[in-house]
Amino acid sequence: MKLQEYRSREILARHGVPVLDGEIATTADEARVAAERIGGPVVVKAQVLVGGRGKAGGVKLAETPDEAAARAGEILGMTIKGVTVRTVLVAAAADIAHEYYLGLILDRGGQAITIIASADGGVEIEETARTNPAAILRLPLHPLIGLQQHQVRRVAFFLGLPVELRKAFGTTLDGLYATFVDADADLAEVNPLVITADGRLVALDAKIVLDDSALFRHPDLEALRDLAEEEPSEVAAREAGINFIKLDGSIGCMVNGAGLAMTTMDLVKLAGGEPANFLDIGGGAKADRVAAAFRIILDDPNVRAILVNIFGGITRGDEVARGIVEARATLSRQVPMVVRIIGTNAAEAAEILLAARLITADSLDDAAAKAVAAARETQA
Ligand code: GDP
Ligand code: MN
Repeated sequence: MKLQEYRSREILARHGVPVLDGEIATTADEARVAAERIGGPVVVKAQVLVGGRGKAGGVKLAETPDEAAARAGEILGMTIKGVTVRTVLVAAAADIAHEYYLGLILDRGGQAITIIASADGGVEIEETARTNPAAILRLPLHPLIGLQQHQVRRVAFFLGLPVELRKAFGTTLDGLYATFVDADADLAEVNPLVITADGRLVALDAKIVLDDSALFRHPDLEALRDLAEEEPSEVAAREAGINFIKLDGSIGCMVNGAGLAMTTMDLVKLAGGEPANFLDIGGGAKADRVAAAFRIILDDPNVRAILVNIFGGITRGDEVARGIVEARATLSRQVPMVVRIIGTNAAEAAEILLAARLITADSLDDAAAKAVAAARETQA
């Protein structure tokens, strides 16, 4: 779960990370009032859960409250990467001397919380990783000892921070680490962390991504979930108890089991197609859940074919097949469906699917190839 910048800033500030005064606004007038209270130049920033707001015109400076209102009027209602801006943050503007990148990630490969730092801040870190990997420091932290002071010094040295800011940097990195651990985050990132013209260290942007599996330990944070800002299909899936992640391809996948779902996506790619989603329907695969899964998949206009891959264990294949046929009849949009059901009562399942004129497949390779071909035909 991603937190909005203004929430991330609040949490970081509570842990001692220096941020500038700010408040949110949902109208141009509210932005004017906020700018009046803050005083001096402000920055008006779109609050959306996607990156690259600056480049998209969602971050604008304003010298006066009237200007802040005008900039807020421009930013509210604009779309950034398909997301409509409903809220802006009005914050005291910094006079920037240098921008740095400072982040903590959970590096699953390295099995450690890892510091990522770069003196090339402000731009997307993925871009720096591609063009100039030597400009990035990756420093894993010991899982039991945590952040150590010699590591703080090493990062400060790598970034080339002036000596007089080392202490402030220590406080900042300590606060970022405390935030990460306290909140069970997957990512806590400040980009940019800046040195201002008058020599202060300030976090100008903040992004926290929480570990969904740990959210039950943080009801206060879970309550901040901004459903209107999240991918609607992923919200619907969560409500239906389906594990779903939207992707950009044309082949919808409905699978039981996370491992089988990933294998299915791999085979779709091997067959020359692109999966439109990851979807694990979980155990049972009852008709109502199957119907919900189909609706979620078909909500995506890019989907040209659906590949259903079910392993019948405790769930009987014929029950699943009946569920699929039933669910299919309720859908408002039809695309070719390739269904592979193996395991318990697979033969009975095949009969039901054939009678309903669905495309069946014996092997996974065969299923993937048929789905890719069907998607191409629908496209043409
Ligand atoms: P992002 O594009 O979504 O990462 O949004 P950021 O909050 O990082 O803002 C993008 C860029 O806008 C920053 O890298 C800065 O260059 C600029 N910016 C943001 N806040 C301020 C500010 O207070 N003062 C100045 N001068 N520039 C700012
Ligand atoms: Mn940023």
